[in-house]
Amino acid sequence: MKNSYNNLEKNLGDLYNFYIYYDGEFVKGNEAKISIWDHGFLYGDGFFEGIRLYGGNLFKLPEHLNRLYDSANCMGIEIPLKMEEIQTAIIETIKKNKLKDGHIRPIITRGVGGPGLAPKLCSQPSIIIMAYPLPPLLGTKPASLITCSITRKSPHSVDPRIKSLNYLDNVLAKMQAANANVDDAIMLDHSGYVAECSGENIFLIKNKVVKTPTTVASLGGITRDTVIDIAKDMNYEVLETNLVVGDLYTADEVFVTGSAAELCPIGIIDGRKVRTGSLGKITEQISKKYKHLIYNKYLTPVYD
Ligand code: PMP
Repeated sequence: MKNSYNNLEKNLGDLYNFYIYYDGEFVKGNEAKISIWDHGFLYGDGFFEGIRLYGGNLFKLPEHLNRLYDSANCMGIEIPLKMEEIQTAIIETIKKNKLKDGHIRPIITRGVGGPGLAPKLCSQPSIIIMAYPLPPLLGTKPASLITCSITRKSPHSVDPRIKSLNYLDNVLAKMQAANANVDDAIMLDHSGYVAECSGENIFLIKNKVVKTPTTVASLGGITRDTVIDIAKDMNYEVLETNLVVGDLYTADEVFVTGSAAELCPIGIIDGRKVRTGSLGKITEQISKKYKHLIYNKYLTPVYD
């Protein structure tokens, strides 16, 4: 395993010092307190987003805000702010922290409730926005994966388009990866097809065709959409289709995508070398275009 966390452990003290937005107030992260009656804490009853800030610009902010409101609709939670107001709160949080590059995490919880599950006791959803520096989560060198025993949530239980606060399956998957001394874990869906990794979508390239699982049991990643558009623009055939682990073992190139991980090539899966062994040619081409895009297109400026 390479150092996936880019020394994050050493910098946690600094990270906790960044200001967060909490229901209209700014509080230092290490001083912020959430009620133990909040359903987000009690049941993972809430949802969140992860957005990248590059050189003072938010990448694909409208797409992230739309997904935030989609999660809200699926969960029957009314976000107490309009989309423009959340956007303003995000921008203010970044400014408060004087951040130019980093990761922004808006979180909505169903709010403070009573004993038991009844959502109607939660009168007011809470809004929290975190903003902090974050290097690419899996590093930039080819990463290693295992296939883990934890399946991704079934669409018959929690629809994967809900970016819910309940990431227990993903956390358990990540633990299996750490125990196996690799960077991350491939999660299969309820039918045994490849779904995604613990916090990233997955792609393979075989005979110049770019393939990725459908979003039946994986998050419709915004980086995934960006990569699909880039590959199509480059005239590669792109297939969103059912894939099995054997497709990954026999692929020419494999990479994963996510706002936190960005685009990370995969070198090893379940102890087997991916054919190219390191950064594949097509992955490199797509990655270059992606890096260009994040500084040049789909940007919302934070500073005037
Ligand atoms: N799948 C899961 C489970 C995730 O948590 C994430 C990151 N939020 C992704 C995929 C990638 O999504 P995006 O590209 O929108 O960050």
